[in-house]
Amino acid sequence: MTATTLTPGAPGSIWTAATAVDERRPRSRQTQLGASDTVCQRRAGYVVHQVPRTDTPDTRAAILGTYIHAGLLESARTEFGWLVERSVRDDQIRGHIDVVQLDEATAARLPKRHRPVEPAQVLTVEDVKTKSLRVWDRVLRYGPTAAEMRQVLLYADLLRTVGFADVAGQRYLHRIGPIEVKRIRFRFICRDTGEEHVDEIDFDPWLADEARWWVDRVMEADSPEELTRDHDGPGLETKTLCDYCPWVSKCWAGAAPGVPAQTILVHDDKDREAALEEYVKARERASAAKKRQGVLRAMLAASPEGVYGANRLAWKGGNAVEETDVQALIDKFENADLPVPMAPDVDAMVTTARLGGVAVPLRKAAGQKTSRTISVTRAPKVA
Ligand code: SF4
Repeated sequence: MTATTLTPGAPGSIWTAATAVDERRPRSRQTQLGASDTVCQRRAGYVVHQVPRTDTPDTRAAILGTYIHAGLLESARTEFGWLVERSVRDDQIRGHIDVVQLDEATAARLPKRHRPVEPAQVLTVEDVKTKSLRVWDRVLRYGPTAAEMRQVLLYADLLRTVGFADVAGQRYLHRIGPIEVKRIRFRFICRDTGEEHVDEIDFDPWLADEARWWVDRVMEADSPEELTRDHDGPGLETKTLCDYCPWVSKCWAGAAPGVPAQTILVHDDKDREAALEEYVKARERASAAKKRQGVLRAMLAASPEGVYGANRLAWKGGNAVEETDVQALIDKFENADLPVPMAPDVDAMVTTARLGGVAVPLRKAAGQKTSRTISVTRAPKVA
């Protein structure tokens, strides 16, 4: 047997085909601002000003999400007769709504053969989002992000102002004109476990106006650079949207090679002073939170697993730690006529040398450096 892990773009990788197909999808090539582009003002600006993409980020997780999404929606269409993947647009923005559940009064305006088998109680716009297990707890706790909410509010607003787009395959929907959305729904699906979670809120026209105002700001800007970066940049310990943004090198251009992109946010000593002030405050908050977390962890140490209010308590670990049985391993090698390595045990030699008072000789390790850490302490008062 041969085992090979293929990197993206490696000869024979199936992702080469999947990425090529994804790049040809109409949504990947559209130049009009899409409701799903409204995740960052600067990024939306790049779309509106048709700035060529500068980067080809890793899209494998997004492509998997698209496959799951398409499969679920198609099943809902064929099994439940749901109205799925419908286009909306005006002269500013376009979008594809995952699901529209028509109420009885609106459904009655359609030709009989197009009416849903079971109309909804209220006209609802639904967005299906796939999420990884890593963020699932956050989804259950806090529901949609502000950007996800904005996206669906824009869909609902397009429906109430324009209605369905006048495109092939949905002209019968376009003919009924603007429709009054009453509710928006998020259906979250966990990519790793299949768990399904639904959040619903009543449609609020004020929130829709706010989402429109966000789009207006983007449209009014003379260049993308006038617009705010709504994310913290690439290369951080916790990945951000910037790590997957097709304009990341343009957006964060200017950092010296080998230093973080975020260095471009500091221009002078005033910026340094402000960053250090904020750093100290963040460190104090983190330290106080960590201390309190330790106390709470100790308080809960004897509590049985279970659901308490909005939280579930579970215990992990606590099992015996396994280590290599060196003698048994040597026996196995000898029984199998395998050579037992006789290389010096450096750790043991260093320990013995130190115990015997012998200085351990050191030399610079080729090409390796210690990690650079920050130290921020109170500056002496200037008299
Ligand atoms: S790199 Fe980040 S901040 Fe810049 S446009 Fe992309 S998502 Fe927005």
